[in-house]
Amino acid sequence: MQTEFTLAQLADSDTAQSEKILRACVHCGFCTATCPTYVLLGDELDGPRGRIYLLKNMLEKGAAPEADTVKHIDRCLSCLACMTTCPSGVNYMHLVDHGRRWIERHYRRPLGERLLRRLLGAVLSRPGLLRPALLAAALVKHLAPLMPARLRPLLALAPSRVPARSADDRERVFPAEGVRRMRVALLSGCAQRVLMPEINVATIRLLTRHGAEVVVAPGSGCCGALTHHLGQHDTALAFVRANIDAWERARTDSGIDAIVVNASGCGTMVKDYGFLLRDDPAYAEKAARISGRARDIAEVMAELGLRATGPAKGLVVAYHSACSLQHGQKIHREPKELLAAAGFEPVDIPEGHLCCGSAGTYNLLQPELASRLRARKLAHIAQTGAGVVAAGNVGCIAQLSGAGVPVVHTVELLDWATGGPIPPALAASAGAAAR
Ligand code: SF4
Ligand code: SF4
Repeated sequence: MQTEFTLAQLADSDTAQSEKILRACVHCGFCTATCPTYVLLGDELDGPRGRIYLLKNMLEKGAAPEADTVKHIDRCLSCLACMTTCPSGVNYMHLVDHGRRWIERHYRRPLGERLLRRLLGAVLSRPGLLRPALLAAALVKHLAPLMPARLRPLLALAPSRVPARSADDRERVFPAEGVRRMRVALLSGCAQRVLMPEINVATIRLLTRHGAEVVVAPGSGCCGALTHHLGQHDTALAFVRANIDAWERARTDSGIDAIVVNASGCGTMVKDYGFLLRDDPAYAEKAARISGRARDIAEVMAELGLRATGPAKGLVVAYHSACSLQHGQKIHREPKELLAAAGFEPVDIPEGHLCCGSAGTYNLLQPELASRLRARKLAHIAQTGAGVVAAGNVGCIAQLSGAGVPVVHTVELLDWATGGPIPPALAASAGAAAR
C-alpha cells in the first residue's frame, strides 16, 4: 500500500512503525472473511482492510478523525483473526493500537462516552476499586431497566454475588511440592482476581504440584491491556513499568524462569512489553527481557508435563480457543493436548476462529455486537453436545457463562484431574442438575 507521510511525521517512532505496517498490506482482502464484525455487518469499513484504509487516512492527515472513522475503529474487537489470515504478515495489532492512541488524544467523544471510558479504565484494572463497585452493582442490578442505556450492559454483566477474596491470592512465594523444577512469577492480574479468584488458586495449585515454585511479586498487578485498548496510553504504561519493576526485583532476588500468565488477553500484552517500551532507554532492555520470558500457563504446563491422577474423567469438553491465545499468541494445540492428557475429551467448537464478543471492555462498550457474537458462539457450543466449556481467558468465561453449559478455565480442569477440587462452576451445575 502506498503511503504519503511527511518526513516530519515519520520522525515519530509510532508513525514510522505504522507506515511500515501499512506498506506491507497488499489489499488482497483475504482477512475480510475471517473478521467477526465484517461477518456480522457486511460493511467493508467494518473489516480489516477497510479499517486499515481508515487508519492510514487518519494518521496521514494528522488531525482529529471524523466521527464515522472512530465508529468503525471502535467496532474492531482487536481479536486479531485478521493477523492469522493475512498472508503478508501485516501487524494489524500495532497499527490499530496506534490508531486507538491517536483517537484518544485527538478526538473529543461525547461527554457520557468519555466518562464511561474513564470509569472503565480506572475501575476494572484496580481490584481495590472493582470489588466495592461490583458489590454496589449487585445491590442495584435489579434496577438495570431504569438506568441510562450506557450503564445497562455494566449492570447486566456484573455478578449477582461477588466472590470472597481468596486467601491464596496474595503477594508471596508458594513453594514447589517435592523437587523444585522451575521458579515462575505469576501475573495475578486485576479483574480476574476479583471476579473469578478460583482461577489463580487453581493455577498456583497446579504449578506447585508439578514442581514449580510460584512467586506473586509485590508491586505486580494489572498488565495494562484494559487501558491500552481504551487508548489510555500513559496509564497503561504505568501498569507495564510497575510489573517490570516487580518482576525484575523478583528475578534479581532469586531468579525467575518464566512469567506465567493465565489470562490470554494479558499474555498477549505482556509478550508485547518489549515493543511498547522500545523507545524508553530506562526500560527497553528490561521490557524485552520480560516479554521474552512471558508464557501462557498452557505453554508452561506442556513443558512441565502433566501428571494426571485417578481414573479419567471422560468428560467431553468444548474447547473455546480465546482470540488472544489462538491469534494473539498462536497457541491452539497445547491446551487441547493437556486436556486430553488429563483424561478429558476435548472437542473443537465450529467456527472456532471467530470471537465470542468479550474482547476486554468490548462487551461493555459495544453491547449489541457483542451479544450477537455471544449468541452465535453459544449456538455453536450447543452443537458440540459438550458438558462443559473450557477457555484460557477470563473475559471469554464471563461472556459465555450463564447460558446453561458451565464455562471454566482450562487450568481448573487440569487442576481437578491432577488432585485438585472440582471447578466451582462445574460443581454448581452438577448440583443444580441433581436437584
Ligand atoms: S490479508 Fe493482509 S495484505 Fe490482505 S488486505 Fe488483509 S491485511 Fe492487507
Ligand atoms: S482485529 Fe478482529 S475485529 Fe478487528 S479488524 Fe481484525 S479481525 Fe476484524
